[in-house]
Amino acid sequence: MLSLGFDIGGTTVKAGVLDEELKLIVKESRETPKQDAEALCDMIKQMADELSGGAKEFRCIGVTVPGSVDKDGGIIDAWNIGLRNVPLKRMIESRIKAERVIVKNDADAACDAELHFGVLRGVKYGLMLTLGTGVGGSIIFDGKLFHGGREQGTELGHAMINRGGDLCGCGHRGCIETLCSASALKRLAQKACEEKRGMIWSLASNGADPDAKLLIDCAMQGDEYAQELFEGYTDVLADAIASFVNILDPEVIVIGGGVSGAGDFLLDKLRVKVPPRTFFGSCGRILKASAGNDAGVLGAVI
Ligand SMILES: [Zn+2]
Repeated sequence: MLSLGFDIGGTTVKAGVLDEELKLIVKESRETPKQDAEALCDMIKQMADELSGGAKEFRCIGVTVPGSVDKDGGIIDAWNIGLRNVPLKRMIESRIKAERVIVKNDADAACDAELHFGVLRGVKYGLMLTLGTGVGGSIIFDGKLFHGGREQGTELGHAMINRGGDLCGCGHRGCIETLCSASALKRLAQKACEEKRGMIWSLASNGADPDAKLLIDCAMQGDEYAQELFEGYTDVLADAIASFVNILDPEVIVIGGGVSGAGDFLLDKLRVKVPPRTFFGSCGRILKASAGNDAGVLGAVI
């Protein structure tokens, strides 16, 4: 029997059909319906029908959401997609016949994918940060994903490190997410455009999107102002990681999400900046997530 993974992001829903060996055989993306749980579940049902060629029953339907999930598979809060207190697992079970329906936090799914298929294989104590629209964070404890003492997961991206700082989507101020997400880099790129400075501004005025990728590309190409902005970004990110190292002392720190596309240009800076900022003066290996864009879809069904 087939399994289906759905990775619900702030902008798109990525879906994938997996065979018995959990190999991805078909995938597709559609726009995320916002603030409408019924529309979201109807779309999941429709995609399941279409992508599976009308299968009547599935081994597993796995769904990841960008927010917190309770132990019954209900969404506690996913502000990115405008959903709060939604019994998502039950709503999917009423639409699709499957041996198992799983609903989990997207960062946890990405971490599960690394644990089973990627760079966290065999790691006993690890940490993964997903730097995308938001900042997700997951902890590997004793070889397993740590679900929290009350099974609500962990929200490392909402650790507050900047008192009175920018307002976060969670309602608090100064969260790591406001400083270390791809959205934070996008705000820096927009600032460069407002100030009409450097390569970011000149490329954006020629039609390029002033987003995280543009800022990173300009920094990589040696533009001084983009490099200055990226140094500032990696300084804050290194502070955040060093704080987690002081709490967890992980063997491996994995960086995933869109920003990790910068590869060693980002990781080498962290490898230099993080160790001296920790209490220990050292830290575990810092690696890039290896499951790539399909991490959410794969991790959803594990
Ligand atoms: Zn927050």
